[in-house]
Parts: sequence; structure tokens; C-alpha cells
Amino acid sequence: AEPYSAQSQQAALDALHRYFGYDSFRTGQAGLVDAILAGRDVLGVMPTGAGKSICYQIPATLLPDLTIVISPLISLMRDQVDALNDLGIPAAYINTTQDMDEQGMVLAQAARGDVKLLYVAPERLETERMRSFAARVPISLITVDEAHCVSQWGQDFRSSYLGIGEFIAALPSCPTVAAFTATATQHVRRDIVALLNLQHPQVTVTGFDRPNLFFDILRMPTNTKNVWIANYVIDHADESGIVYCATRKETEALAGLLSERGVPAVAYHGGMSAQNRNDAQRAFVTDAAPVVVATNAFGMGIDKSNVRYVIHHNMPESIEAYYQEAGRAGRDGEPSRCTLLWNDSDIVTRRRLLDMDSQNDRMSEDEREVVRLSHRRLLDAMIGYCRTTECLHAYMTRYFADPDAAQSAPPQDESSHAAADNQTSNDPAPAKPNGCGNCANCLSTFATIDVTDIARSISRCVHDLNQSFGMGKIVAVLRGSKTQDLLARHLDSCPSYGVLEQVPQARVRDVLNQMTTDGFLTVSEGRLPVVHFGPRAAATASSDFHYEIKRVERPAAVGGRTGQVKQSG
Ligand code: ADP
Repeated sequence: AEPYSAQSQQAALDALHRYFGYDSFRTGQAGLVDAILAGRDVLGVMPTGAGKSICYQIPATLLPDLTIVISPLISLMRDQVDALNDLGIPAAYINTTQDMDEQGMVLAQAARGDVKLLYVAPERLETERMRSFAARVPISLITVDEAHCVSQWGQDFRSSYLGIGEFIAALPSCPTVAAFTATATQHVRRDIVALLNLQHPQVTVTGFDRPNLFFDILRMPTNTKNVWIANYVIDHADESGIVYCATRKETEALAGLLSERGVPAVAYHGGMSAQNRNDAQRAFVTDAAPVVVATNAFGMGIDKSNVRYVIHHNMPESIEAYYQEAGRAGRDGEPSRCTLLWNDSDIVTRRRLLDMDSQNDRMSEDEREVVRLSHRRLLDAMIGYCRTTECLHAYMTRYFADPDAAQSAPPQDESSHAAADNQTSNDPAPAKPNGCGNCANCLSTFATIDVTDIARSISRCVHDLNQSFGMGKIVAVLRGSKTQDLLARHLDSCPSYGVLEQVPQARVRDVLNQMTTDGFLTVSEGRLPVVHFGPRAAATASSDFHYEIKRVERPAAVGGRTGQVKQSG
């Protein structure tokens, strides 16, 4: 009823002020808090740093009984619990670092009502002790943090999350359930609602745009990446930053290189001992080491607000992963920079990893295929991000609004593809009229290159080769390669053999990749990836087909408000 709602809104604001010292809720927070207080299940999808925790912490202080927070990481729990206790909100956690006696003490405190928030890992819910505790102690709210871990459609699937729904269903009281995540495509969202059995949940998705982040994509050969990163880090030695690498080996090599060159950097990856990881994390959080060079094992639950840059050494496997990692920059709202370094070999690596991923599991072949397809879609959108000439903020925003539509080119791009206009080859395209001014694409000028003939030849070659060869073979055939393998298979007799002899290999590859991004071709996974026709393939045969690629003419006068970046030599 109205009066109750107004009252609880005021109470929530008071609590926000009293405990956290903030005057107002941020976008999305008030609605979620109100819904929870009114006893309604919720799903909050908010980017990292948007303030998800407060959405359940405030209700937890106001609700009569216990709030259980299910959270995947011990380090995250400890930090949150410490922070809450500092603020005067009684909180505790149960995890494997405690012995049975300690756990018993915490549970007894919670049973007495001396703890408002109890943090537990999902694995704990399966223990008899936790089940009997939950059966006798009244619970007002169950919060599921990082709720996307319940879905196999995302990339952080954890089987222990699958037990949460059952745990909740077995509770004698019917607590409100609040799920939160920073990453959720529609598939993942649907899974969360279904698998946690949320009842008519209020789903709140808040703006994913982070206007203070400067997004930048730099395409460069693998062997220049470390030099570029080292230069950047040295130029910004007084700033805190994260460099994400794809492999453990890379993190150690790069951290070593940076330290050698005078910037204290620590490596962080899943292969390190818990102690070493803890030390590295602490060094970074306390600014003893301004830079951490890490695999994607680093970051969940790390609350460091003054990270000024996040550099990706390789292309991540999805926009979700990228956004979550890059989003660790600038949580304090200050201008910060997110740079993604990539090249075509990253795509090859990612496709290979993706295929390996879907091999080792107890899934049936059908399930595996579903997972493979979904991961491939995630990767395709990531590749689209790397190749787009559109505003990067706009690309992201559209992706999170509707992931399936993100790759389709925006209207103005479409027209430049289609029009046989008077722009001659290599003419710089005019700067974007409505640029955000805070991403590399909006600050760059692009050269438009007519590649219609190349694209046609590629299509013909895919046809000649019966859609049964990979990119390497297609490029080799088109360029008239004379390798043994090719001649042995008589591929030199196909009509498109050698028709692009004069075109540099890199250009052919580039157009091929772009055609995959644009849906003219697709690449199947497998030990030997094969190029097939995509949904738009027929268009290449039409007489008014026109195809262009855009390349950065002059690198953006980068830095935005975060300072100039030197191009490495
Ligand atoms: P998330 O879990 O969504 O990544 P957090 O809950 O860790 O984000 O919040 C990020 C930061 O924003 C924290 O430092 C938090 O105190 C701050 N914050 C959250 N809500 C507000 C608010 N209403 N006003 C000001 N700061 C807030």
C-alpha cells in the first residue's frame, strides 16, 4: 500500500545516509531496494561499479530477519564483511578458511539475530550444517551475487550455483530472492530467472554506458604489443592500472619486463599459490605495486576505485568479459582509459580455445553444441567490436540492450557499405558527426578502401573449394601459392586460383575476416576451422554489390582527458 511504500522509501534513504554517508541513490538502486522491501524478487543487472551491493545491503539493515548473501569468492566476502562491520552493520561469513568451531560460532550469532548479513559460498549450501541452520532460522532475504554463474550461456558457469535454486526451494520460510550480475545477455537473464526460480521478478537493467571511460582499440602485430604496453605503463607510472593477458606465461613475462624497466608490477594468475595471489592483490590494492599483470582470474570482487587504465593484451572471449574487466577502470568516476590490443591471430587463438572448452565436459554432444554455438556468438560480437568503426560506447550500449543486434551495422555504416559513391579509394571518411568524443573511433579518421573485387573473389573461392577449407587455404589459393600440399590436392586447378596474386596476403586475410564479421561468411569450429557461406552470402553475387573496409587513417589523438599516449616506434 502507498503509505507503507513511502515510509520504507524514507527508511531506505535514511539508512543510505546513516550507514554509507550517501545522499541519494544512483540509477536503478532505489527501485531495487523498494521492490526487495516490498517482498518482491528482483534481478538487478548493473555494470561493475554501479553499486549493486547497496541494493541488498540497505534492505538487509531494514528487514526483520537474516539476509544470506551467496557469493563466489572468499576474498570478496572478507572485504565486504570487513567493510560492513566498519560501517556498523553486523555481518559475517562462513567459509572453508574457518574450522568447525568458528563456523559454529558464526552460525550461533546469526541464529541469535546478532548478524544481519551472512555471506556464504554456494558450495556451503550443500552442507548438512547449513541446511539445518536455514531450516530453523528465519530468513528475510537471499541475495545471489554474480548470478550469471548459474548459466551455461555465460562464461563463468559454476556448477555449485545450480544447487542454489534447490536450497531456496527447501526453505520453510519463503524469503525474497534478489539476484545481481554485471553481465547478462538475454539468454543468461532468462536462465537466472528460471534456475533461481525467481517469482515475477522485477528486472532492472541499468545503463551500461560508462561515460568516464575512454575506449580504444589498437590493432598491432603480436611482437609489438609488449613494447607498446611497456611504454604506456612507464609514461603513466604514477597511475594504477591492470594489464590483462591471455596466458599465465604472458603475465609473468610482462610483469618481469615492467619491473626491469622500473615500474613495480606484480603478476597474478590462477597457477600461483593462494598466498602469492593474496600478496599480489594486496600489493596492488594498497598501491605498493601500481600495476598488476593478470589473467582473467584477477578482478572479481576487487574494489579499487582509482584504477586509471585497463589494457588488454589480447582479445577477450566476449564483450561481457571485456566489459567486466575493462569496467574495473574508473570506478571513482574519474576519466580512465580502456585499451584493447588485438590482431587476427587473436581470433584464431580464441576460436581454438573455444573449441577446446566445449570438448572436456560431462555434457552430451547436443548440449556441447549449444554451448559451442553460444560461445561462438559471444566471440563474434567481440570480433565485431574490434573491427567496428562506429562509436565504441554506442556499440557496447547496443550490445547490452540486445546482443543479437549489436553486430548489424548501424544505419550510417550500412549506407557507406552499399553506396557506390564518389569517394575514391583511400579517401579519408569524414569524422563522425555525432561522436561521443570519448572513444578512439570517434576521434579517428578512417580511410575507406574499396575491396569489392577482393570480396567477390573470396566468395567465388569459397564456392570453388566447396565450403570445405579454412582461411589459410582460401588465401593460398587466391594468391596462387605453389605449396606441395595445395598442388597435391589439385587446388591449382580451381577457377579462382591465383586471381588475387597481386593483392598482399594481409589484405586478403583482412577482407576475409571482415566478411565473417559482416555475415557474408562464417567459420565453423573444429580442429580445422572451415569457412562456409554466411546468411548474407548471396549479396556478393549481385551486380550492385559494393564492399568497403575502413582503416584508421591516423591514430586518434588519443588520451581524451587522460593524457597523451605515445606511439611506440
Ligand atoms: P558493484 O558491486 O556494482 O560493482 P559496488 O556495490 O562495489 O559496485 O559499488 C561501487 C562503489 O560505488 C562503492 O564504492 C560504493 O560505495 C559506491 N556507491 C554505491 N552506491 C552509491 C550511491 N548511491 N552514492 C554514492 N556512491 C555509491
